[in-house]
Amino acid sequence: VYILGIESSCDDTSAAVICDAKVLSNVVANQEVHSKYGGVVPELASRAHQQNIVPVVQQALSQANITKEQLSAIAFTKGPGLMGSLLVGTSFAKSLALGLQIPLIDVNHMQAHILAHFIDDEKSKKPTFPFICLTISGGHTQIVKVSDYFKMEILGETIDDAVGEAFDKSAKILGLPYPGGPLIDKYAQLGNEKAFQFTKPKVGDLEFSFSGLKTGILYFIQKQQRINPKFIEENLNDICASIQYTIAEILMDKLKKAVKLTGIKQIAIAGGVSANSEIRNRLQLAEKHFGWTTFVPKFEYTTDNAAMIAVTGYLKYLDHTYAAISVSAKARLKVTD
Ligand code: ATP
Ligand code: FE
Repeated sequence: VYILGIESSCDDTSAAVICDAKVLSNVVANQEVHSKYGGVVPELASRAHQQNIVPVVQQALSQANITKEQLSAIAFTKGPGLMGSLLVGTSFAKSLALGLQIPLIDVNHMQAHILAHFIDDEKSKKPTFPFICLTISGGHTQIVKVSDYFKMEILGETIDDAVGEAFDKSAKILGLPYPGGPLIDKYAQLGNEKAFQFTKPKVGDLEFSFSGLKTGILYFIQKQQRINPKFIEENLNDICASIQYTIAEILMDKLKKAVKLTGIKQIAIAGGVSANSEIRNRLQLAEKHFGWTTFVPKFEYTTDNAAMIAVTGYLKYLDHTYAAISVSAKARLKVTD
């Protein structure tokens, strides 16, 4: 079974071809236009998707070395995301499915981040049900209990900002371009994580909060810059390492609570922030320290990609769960929908 996956929920245009659950190609076109604005500009994102979608799909097919006539189905991101961005992928997927007369499959982007763990890859082991997934991305921070491919329950989530936003906003305070998460990770490698202390939020057992941390970082930096205008410049690595350490601590504390409350020791991470090296290391160490079985996605399946959309489409294809041609994009969609 060959499935074409299409992802256009935010600022990356991506297309992937899979053969059953094996990835044959996974092309991602990043949109550079947003970096100078310090965040994604929706109108510019949809225009860029419009320009990228055809070449990206063609490249995915040619890299997979198949023709579009060999496809069994088209899977696309229905939501959640930016409406203008989603519409580009949705309309394109519909037209192609109509033209080829093959099934169309709608995919929930947040389920796909989690189900990326079921991509066939010799190097990574697959979780068995039930498992706990810490979904950490640009728009979400959730602890999800996954009882089956499409049976998910949110045990706790953020009451304000997502962890990806915490990374990006902290980076912005430090004068780094968008998205700053990967840059904080990069500078943190060379810094001392204990150099500066930031307070962890006090919220419910499985809840998260990152807006206070962001404000704390802002005030701390403003104060230090008044004393020494070169503070950021001279301490960038240490500041990044300390921020990253605090965030990793918060996430690990919550996972420990989730294990205690559910008794489930199979722990996965998913979403763009699961690309973070400190978080990946911490989770892997938890195998030795706490006896958990942990699942860290391959780096290229952490941030937005169409391979995760295609594999989720494949799992639905096996059940013949197809979308009607009248299906519409949904800006708001929960992982449980
Ligand atoms: P959502 O999936 O919630 O709709 P999204 O699709 O915009 O949001 P993703 O693409 O899953 O988000 O993740 C993007 C986020 O991941 C950004 O906030 C980015 O800064 C962050 N990120 C990516 N790599 C790293 C890293 N190495 N360290 C920290 N954060 C990272
Ligand atoms: Fe995402």
